[in-house]
Amino acid sequence: MTVELNFPKLKTIFLLSLFCFLGDSCKDDDSIPEPFEDFVSDFYSNTSSLEIIIGYETNAEPYISYGGRDAWDVTLNNIQNLLKDKNITVSGPKKLNKMTDFGVLEQKSYSRQNILDLAKDLQVYSNKDSAKGITIVFLDGYYIRDGEILDQVLGLNIGNTSVLAIFKPVIDASSSSKAEQTLVEQSTVTHEIGHALGLVNNGVRATSAHHDVANGSHCTNTECVMYWMNGAGDISKFITPFLTGNDVTLFGNQCIEDVKAK
Ligand SMILES: [Zn+2]
Ligand SMILES: [Zn+2]
Repeated sequence: MTVELNFPKLKTIFLLSLFCFLGDSCKDDDSIPEPFEDFVSDFYSNTSSLEIIIGYETNAEPYISYGGRDAWDVTLNNIQNLLKDKNITVSGPKKLNKMTDFGVLEQKSYSRQNILDLAKDLQVYSNKDSAKGITIVFLDGYYIRDGEILDQVLGLNIGNTSVLAIFKPVIDASSSSKAEQTLVEQSTVTHEIGHALGLVNNGVRATSAHHDVANGSHCTNTECVMYWMNGAGDISKFITPFLTGNDVTLFGNQCIEDVKAK
């Protein structure tokens, strides 16, 4: 499948979201070659703080503002809201000088092992104690799996880990509008953190019938960021409040309730 460039911008965003949110592309379930953390199983037992730790390849830095607002408030506020009944404090950088610049990396596509290696350099927590960290690497290239370059994948959470990757060329191809690119980026980050934190039925049990089993660890609520197509039927309604700078609640009530019950 290819992105139809003649589509209206919002439909392009929808298509790109579709590729990201397809279960296997988005939530990498490849067999694990060595023992890794089981992030979510420990997370809800003893966590008091969660820090979002960010590294980026030169020229793939995250967007930090749109419309005069801090872009990262979108992710931080939504994850804090998701965890509001857990006494877990969420923090993370909002400026590039609080993130790590990896410099220019030689390769243009990245395997799960490449991503895990980069994330290891960023991580400062063991994730066994009460203070935990999620690492996100922003890459100037594409995800490669089994030798295939997946040039429509916006981002992923490597299964059972606290590791996320964002593929900047795919984010940038989503729109010519900086604000919309920022929206796509923040929405993707929030979605992938949602997977890392156990949504949907991915370590946190679904407490109502909203698990979209056919599409992996996703939500049937079309107005929830964990919906596999992220608002397929109504994407403009989904993003309008985002673009105008109003507070945006990205998680639907069902996902919020699952975490609350965990
Ligand atoms: Zn997903
Ligand atoms: Zn949901």
